[in-house]
Amino acid sequence: MPAGGLRKRAGSSGRDLSRPEAPEPLPLPVYDNHTHLEFEDGVDQLDPLDSLARAEAVGVRGVVQVGTDLETSRWSAQLAASDPRVLAAVALHPNEAPLVAERGMLHEQLSEIARLAAQPRVRAIGETGLDFFRTGEEGRGAQIESFEAHIEIAKAHGIALQIHDRDAHDEVVSTLLRVGAPERTVFHCFSGDVRLAKICNERGWYLSVAGPSTFKNAPKLREAISIAKPELLLVETDAPFLTPEPFRGRPNAPYLMPHTVRRLADTLGRPLDEVCALLASNTERVYGAWESEPEAVGA
Ligand SMILES: [Zn+2]
Repeated sequence: MPAGGLRKRAGSSGRDLSRPEAPEPLPLPVYDNHTHLEFEDGVDQLDPLDSLARAEAVGVRGVVQVGTDLETSRWSAQLAASDPRVLAAVALHPNEAPLVAERGMLHEQLSEIARLAAQPRVRAIGETGLDFFRTGEEGRGAQIESFEAHIEIAKAHGIALQIHDRDAHDEVVSTLLRVGAPERTVFHCFSGDVRLAKICNERGWYLSVAGPSTFKNAPKLREAISIAKPELLLVETDAPFLTPEPFRGRPNAPYLMPHTVRRLADTLGRPLDEVCALLASNTERVYGAWESEPEAVGA
């Protein structure tokens, strides 16, 4: 079990850094399919084991721990290998790829990501994709090259793809169509509108619902989520970021995901237990079973 605190969350000034109390447990277990347990945030640091135990106590039985560079990808694979509640995703983040390319190391690092992808508990390539909000014109070539390479790695290993799409919906879709999307493609922290949700429905791409779906100013996002095919819905925290209401801005962790799940049940107008069962079976379809034998992966 690797120790936590590998990364520190930036931009903490002015935030309330106390940890919200645990929500009421969910009636049936679900999985957080996108989280970053390596981050230190808040006044009381949660190490990965504490975080997983708190999550389990409220019905979040497992997580996909997601890497954003080589170091955190290796850490994620190591954590997944040592704890049955964890599966890993590995990738160079779209804002990281241009920096790696500038140092002339993109190809070398992509080969290392491909090597990690061969490990039995690494079940996704992510987070990769496009971010036109934080990366400017000058970084786009490297970002697209990296995204395409990650798509190929996911397909070569028959594992899922987790997409980070920020202000780049059209380009993400056109890249997926040009390169050919993996069978299991997930829009992590889905932020699209009805139009993108319809494209996902047509293509069988998954929409992963995160904290912003609970925000007051997000009726359009909830509208998009409400028209998604139920069998394409997943849920995540993206912790320590994007804390759901009523704790927006406070430190996030997988144990707070029940707030997002309850709001999703409201949005869909379906009973909570039914939504939990749906989310759990969708998640296992995308990533395989958390406690399965390595041979069963991707079957
Ligand atoms: Zn993330």
